[in-house]
Amino acid sequence: MFGQMQDVPLLMNRILDHAMINHGEREIVSRLVEGNIHRETYADAHLRARKLSQSLQGLGMGQGDVIATLAWNTHRHIEAWYGITGIGGVYHTLNPRLFPEQLVYIINHAEDKMIFTDLTFVPILEAIQDQLTHVKGIIIMTDAAHMPDTSLTHAYCYEDLIDGQNGDFNWVEVDERAPCGMCYTSGTTGNPKGVCYTHRSNVLHTLVGNSADVMGLKSTDSIMPVVPMFHANAWGLALSAPAAGSKIVNPGPNMDGESIYQLLTEEAVTFTAAVPTVWLMLLQHMEANDLKLPVLKDVTIGGSAVPRIMLEKFERDYEVSVKHAWGMTELSPLGTIASFKSGMEDMTFDEQMDIKVKQGRAPYGVEMKITDDDGNELPRDGVAFGHLMVRGPFIVGEYIKGDGGNILDENGFFDTGDVATIDPLGFMQITDRAKDVIKSGGEWISSIEIENVAVAHESVMEAAVIGLAHPKWDERPLLIIVKNEGADVSKEEILSFLEGKIAKWWMPDDVAFVDEIPHTATGKIQKLTLRSQFADYKLPTADSAAE
Ligand code: AMP
Repeated sequence: MFGQMQDVPLLMNRILDHAMINHGEREIVSRLVEGNIHRETYADAHLRARKLSQSLQGLGMGQGDVIATLAWNTHRHIEAWYGITGIGGVYHTLNPRLFPEQLVYIINHAEDKMIFTDLTFVPILEAIQDQLTHVKGIIIMTDAAHMPDTSLTHAYCYEDLIDGQNGDFNWVEVDERAPCGMCYTSGTTGNPKGVCYTHRSNVLHTLVGNSADVMGLKSTDSIMPVVPMFHANAWGLALSAPAAGSKIVNPGPNMDGESIYQLLTEEAVTFTAAVPTVWLMLLQHMEANDLKLPVLKDVTIGGSAVPRIMLEKFERDYEVSVKHAWGMTELSPLGTIASFKSGMEDMTFDEQMDIKVKQGRAPYGVEMKITDDDGNELPRDGVAFGHLMVRGPFIVGEYIKGDGGNILDENGFFDTGDVATIDPLGFMQITDRAKDVIKSGGEWISSIEIENVAVAHESVMEAAVIGLAHPKWDERPLLIIVKNEGADVSKEEILSFLEGKIAKWWMPDDVAFVDEIPHTATGKIQKLTLRSQFADYKLPTADSAAE
């Protein structure tokens, strides 16, 4: 027996319909690759997305076709997503920071039929076009005046495609479980794996993302998604902003401190989101120029652990509330967020920072547990750490084409590959990636926790900790540091700074200073590369232990 409520399918394009009808006047502002600032409204975006759907159909695209985007965050990228899903197609975000051979692999594996690209990335596609097996055409996201002289065969001009249509189009109705989006994980080992979102999972993720304890966008907000749409779907903001009716301010290709600051202030941004590296650049710019953030209220930070010092600066020096979030491509991507529970507003500043430095608690829609190597659930005591497992309606069930086989445990939980603690109030804290955790004398050392303490030192710009083979302890930590420009600091000074802030037996056996730490395409420290760079490195403790 079923209940008797309306069975309206959860389709992503209805979010844009809602924005057009109820917030049609609200702006989408974008800094474009061409250099100018572009303004349009949700009503404009809705019309242009419909015209794009018509064009895509005219180019022979239809339901189920996968159409990629290789683009910065702009109004055109948002229109492209809705234009693609409007014909029942599947948008597939490509990360331009990947190596060309990874892009070729991903494009062919996903069987992309067309690619939308920004001008910036035309040379990448020119170089690989001969290796693309399913691609029938490339849409260059610019107007006729800026169309490049290109060797791309079957290149189309985005604005010409739009100008050639009347917009008299109804979105194609598909099942809410139909595919609507794809994103591949950056894959530090082996080939990248693809995640395929459904309309339903995207809409549910939007509702959860917009709940008050998560990102809670409002129609009065002006939001800036600095996190790229090509990295974990810009944390869902291209859907949650129109659902709320918030103004969107797209930074386009310019993510340096000065450009971000300019848009934050000129467009009166109240909410923004990005990875810590972006905020590092912004904070440096503001400190160097003695600037303030009078309008900005909330910043969500995730993708990598937020250093405590960054949290404190935002909260104390700029009076901006930070929400630390954790997620991954496989989770659409929101997993947890560190928003306060009752009573925490009254805590001291330091106690509050102790909470905010954690990755946070699960909203409704994400179930979470930690387990040992045998799959036994570990206590939520904030001390035990184990494999972080998650379950929910916007969490991956299997990778595209079944890559990696069965990825769920017998209860349907997905192993995130992260290692974490969960405290009695439900706050999760990532201690490591499972493959980065340092195993010393049968116990685990959290590399992230040591890194977080090290970056609080005034001379340290970036820190990474890896485990090196050790004859007695199996593995011991090596702390690798990039100094701040002009800073002069010794190994001994760093080690004494760590003393008392981490467990004694976690103390790194050595400190190495480097000019640069390698990063993945999504801005995370590339520990695999670091481990191979330091494969022959000898810890000073190794000799004495071997004797
Ligand atoms: P991606 O799918 O590229 O977003 O990568 C997801 C991974 O990034 C997670 O599995 C974590 O290892 C890491 N990550 C994301 N957010 C955080 C965070 N707030 N703190 C620490 N690691 C994070």
